[in-house]
Amino acid sequence: MMDKNTNPTTPPVCSYEGSDYQDSFWETGTRRYEDAVEAIALQRLLNKPGKLMLELGAGAGRNTPRYADWQRVVLLDYSRTQLVQARERLGDSQRYIYVAADIYKLPFVAGLFDGATMIRTLHHMADPKLALQNVRSVLAENAVFILEFANKRNIKAITRWLLGKQKWNPFNHEQVEFVELNFDFHPKAIRALLKETGFKLEKQLSVSFFRANWFKNHISHDRLVTMDSALQSTGAWAQITPSVFSRTIAIGSSSKPEGNDFFRCPICAHPLPEASSSQTCPGCGHAWEYRDGIYEFRIQPES
Ligand SMILES: [Zn+2]
Repeated sequence: MMDKNTNPTTPPVCSYEGSDYQDSFWETGTRRYEDAVEAIALQRLLNKPGKLMLELGAGAGRNTPRYADWQRVVLLDYSRTQLVQARERLGDSQRYIYVAADIYKLPFVAGLFDGATMIRTLHHMADPKLALQNVRSVLAENAVFILEFANKRNIKAITRWLLGKQKWNPFNHEQVEFVELNFDFHPKAIRALLKETGFKLEKQLSVSFFRANWFKNHISHDRLVTMDSALQSTGAWAQITPSVFSRTIAIGSSSKPEGNDFFRCPICAHPLPEASSSQTCPGCGHAWEYRDGIYEFRIQPES
C-alpha cells in the first residue's frame, strides 16, 4: 500500500500514492471511533478563526471541513492521488488550494500562514526535527500550530513491555520505527523538539483511550466517544494514549511575505505568485505544473 520515495537530499517520504486509505480506513467503520474523538480534540484546540491554514498531510481531506472558521485552507500532501480524492470530496473553490509537495521541501514563502495542523503525519517522519523546522519557517509569528503525534509510551506498549512481549522500552526517549516509515514518539522528546524548533506548547490532550478492539466490540460507539471526550484533558498531566494532540504557538520572529509572494521554488527558493496555472521559476527555470486544480511542487513526482 505505501511506497518509500527516496530523494537523495532529504529523508525518505512515506507516500499513500494510489491508496484507498480514506475509504478502507475511515469510512467503512473500523476507525469511526478514532475519527470522532479526533474531531472533538480538534474543536477544543482550534478555538479561534483565522485567515490562511496549512493542513500538512491533508490526505483525502478527512479533517478539512473541520476548519470551517478559516477563510482559506491549503491542503498539502505528498500523494497526488489523495489530493484528487480530496478535491472530489470538497470541490473546487477559492477556499481550497491543493498542493502536492514534500514537507521537507515546503513550497511557500516564509511567514505565510497564520495556522497549521499536522495530524497523523509526524508518524511518518524519519526526521521530525527537520519537518518541524520547515513548518515553523512558513508560519507567521503567533500562528497556531496543532500537532498530533503517535505516542510510544501508551498503555498497550507499556503492558506488552512489562509482559516481555515487546523488545523496545516505551519509557526511553528514542523514537521507535515499528513498521518501515511508521514512528512512535516519546511525549518528552516531542516537547523538547517543539521548544527547540520555535513552538510554545499551550495545551495537550490525550486521545483514543479505547482504540483496542476489545472496547469497540463490547461498548457502543457513542459511549466510547463520550468517555474519551471526558478523559482527553488528562493529557495536561499524563499521556498514556496512542495519540496525543498539542496546541502550540509559533514564537520568535518571522519574515513577512511581500506583495503577491505565496509559493517558493523548492529547488532555488525564488518566490512565486499564486497563479492557478503552471509557472516557470524565474530563478532556476524549473517548470512547476498546475494540473486538474492541483499544484505540483514535488521535485521527483511519481505520477
Ligand atoms: Zn527555482
